[in-house]
Amino acid sequence: MGEFHCRYEDHLEEAILGFCINIGCHQTPQFCFKCFNTNQKQHQFECLPFQKIKEHIQEYIQKENEYYGKLQNFESSFNNFINQMQKKVQNNLKKILKMNEFLSKGEYLNFKSDIKFFRKYHSKVDETENSKLITSINSIVSALENIKQDYIRIDDEVNALTDYNTQQYLNKAKSYFEKGEQLVQRGIISRSINSLKRFNIDGIQS
Ligand SMILES: [Zn+2]
Ligand SMILES: [Zn+2]
Repeated sequence: MGEFHCRYEDHLEEAILGFCINIGCHQTPQFCFKCFNTNQKQHQFECLPFQKIKEHIQEYIQKENEYYGKLQNFESSFNNFINQMQKKVQNNLKKILKMNEFLSKGEYLNFKSDIKFFRKYHSKVDETENSKLITSINSIVSALENIKQDYIRIDDEVNALTDYNTQQYLNKAKSYFEKGEQLVQRGIISRSINSLKRFNIDGIQS
């Protein structure tokens, strides 16, 4: 590491040991041994040596990567599901349009050849099934919105806070991360995905 010395006149040549991470601190963020015992005295526990900051950074990099990976997995399974559903809907629509054509032309025998499909479709296509699907999708979307808002709120706090305990901030960030992780892992999202999958299995298309 290059030379990094304290700027305060009476601390000249004192090596900088780390950074103060107190959000409300008005001193220079870097501190030397003298700073530590004078202008940083009120919150020494928030004066982190370089090594400690490195450890935090490594931990956060790992957590953010894990979080990102989980979101990517979720994104791909959600996309797969939507694609499958769209295909099913298109297939059903194609069949219904064909049957409509048979009926309007009076081709009853052709209509009859698809009667099995029509019976099954007619027995299953009701408002309940459709609204179950929409409700599930809506709950996934709102769960994702919550995660996004938690994330944005962290940025807002960094900008707005003047005298906020950093440890509280770190704990809060950690709890946001864990909350998001829980949602993705076993909370609302996986429950909704499961109910969507069930809907998919019980789907209308024969
Ligand atoms: Zn400070
Ligand atoms: Zn100093």
